[in-house]
Amino acid sequence: MFAAVNAKQLYRMRAPASGREALAEAEPGEVYLDRETGEEMQPVAQVLPLAPSASSLPRAPQNLRACRRCDQLIGLDVSDCPYCGLRQEAL
Ligand SMILES: [Zn+2]
Repeated sequence: MFAAVNAKQLYRMRAPASGREALAEAEPGEVYLDRETGEEMQPVAQVLPLAPSASSLPRAPQNLRACRRCDQLIGLDVSDCPYCGLRQEAL
């Protein structure tokens, strides 16, 4: 098992109707409501660093690149885009 301190995964949550977004530590099976509108929010993307982190590289801008397909910022040392799954070119 992974260390408890690193097990929470941050997700970008989106309310489908309003398009409002928020960051939350989502857990499977839990329902997240927008604090202001009361809409149910759904996780749309994991937020780096992924938990548990596969890398000790700090997520400084110089350690990030944009995925060619989805334009999300991902770590230089990540081999597959965590957002769209695109295999990244070796550096
Ligand atoms: Zn991507």
